[in-house]
Amino acid sequence: MRALIVGRFQPFHNGHMEVIKKILEEHSSVIIGIGSAQYSHTLRDPFTAGERHLMISMSLEEKGIVNFYLVPIEDVNSNPLWVAHVEALTPRFDSVYTNNPLVRRLFLEKKYDVRSVELMNRTDWSGTSIRKKMLDGKRWEDDVPEQVVRVIREIDGVQRLRDLAMQD
Ligand code: ATP
Ligand code: MG
Repeated sequence: MRALIVGRFQPFHNGHMEVIKKILEEHSSVIIGIGSAQYSHTLRDPFTAGERHLMISMSLEEKGIVNFYLVPIEDVNSNPLWVAHVEALTPRFDSVYTNNPLVRRLFLEKKYDVRSVELMNRTDWSGTSIRKKMLDGKRWEDDVPEQVVRVIREIDGVQRLRDLAMQD
């Protein structure tokens, strides 16, 4: 049985890692959809789909996890078309993991087995809070897998975020 989870992963953090491990306790493989794939270089979506792909694949492989498929998914801005759009890009899947009520509704209407996972340590393990820590010069490195720290250093990601926050 294969499961799907879609996130923006800006950046991929420890909460995402825990969810993926939980999913793989119940499924033989997981499709990880990199949502809003067309966006990068904004305060909400600083990293490109390729950079996020690298963060996720390196982190999972480092943990010995190989039963995952990474699929970049651009927004379609049409709720009724969303599920068909995802299906067109991904291998077949049986279950969908989401905490988002709209995503839940859309997949339920297409008869998918929709499941939720409880949010863990949400104060720290949240993309928004990690991006804020980066901007404020606070320690964010403990909230993401080590490989994510490496990728963000390599692309000078924190400075990118700070540059994006500057006004001309
Ligand atoms: P942002 O604040 O940028 O929205 P995020 O931390 O919510 O970032 P997303 O990429 O939006 O990350 O998350 C994708 C999915 O990952 C969420 O819908 C949620 O199901 C799951 N998730 C995110 N953070 C956690 C967490 N701390 N514990 C469990 N699941 C999480
Ligand atoms: Mg979110």
